[in-house]
Amino acid sequence: MTGLATDFATLPLSPQALANLTQLGYLQMTPIQAASLPVALLGKDLIAQAKTGSGKTAAFALALLANLNPRRFAVQAMVLCPTRELADQVTTEIRRLARAEENIKVITLCGGVALRGQLASLEHGAHIVVGTPGRIMDHLDRGSLNLEALNTLVLDEADRMLDMGFFEDIVKVARLCPKERQTLLFSATYPEGIQKLAAQFMKSPQQITVQAQH
Ligand code: ADP
Ligand code: MG
Repeated sequence: MTGLATDFATLPLSPQALANLTQLGYLQMTPIQAASLPVALLGKDLIAQAKTGSGKTAAFALALLANLNPRRFAVQAMVLCPTRELADQVTTEIRRLARAEENIKVITLCGGVALRGQLASLEHGAHIVVGTPGRIMDHLDRGSLNLEALNTLVLDEADRMLDMGFFEDIVKVARLCPKERQTLLFSATYPEGIQKLAAQFMKSPQQITVQAQH
């Protein structure tokens, strides 16, 4: 992975987004960001693998924000995460990266949390939802989550979601998303199940692996 540009300014991002990254102290892209963002920003499906702590969240967050129309108040991006703790972290990071845009609403939908508040949030509307596959499936079953405007589906920590037995739920959720969309899969490891999962609903995904440095 040598020779890749690591300057965020080489990406097709707005001056506001670039200024926000600088403010956050993101001065250079991490290796997985440098390898995946140029491809993701072209709208291609991606399977990206890099170890924990390598900056995978910003890699998919910047891609989904690039697909987003802030003036369209409908769910345009959805991130599936294995746990509530991770979903909360992803939500926080997306909000930080979205600061350059006005009023982008992100909500989390995880199990173990009362449905009532989630139903009220969905009623008010959002641009982005982040959640666990089981609870997202519940909302799709009861019709409280509308995915008609969705253009980006992200599977974060796909290896852990497979470990937790979410294969079927993920496939079901993906099948309920519009066909015309970008799907981004991020993972720390690359077990066999990932390829099987991708084969169910991804479109000729480009595979990107950043090896751990020793
Ligand atoms: P991963 O999902 O790969 O485990 P995270 O997305 O949680 O990693 O990022 C790990 C940490 O690195 C976070 O604290 C995040 O804010 C920080 N980070 C991400 N990208 C950059 C960057 N380009 N420059 C500096 N810090 C970054
Ligand atoms: Mg992560």
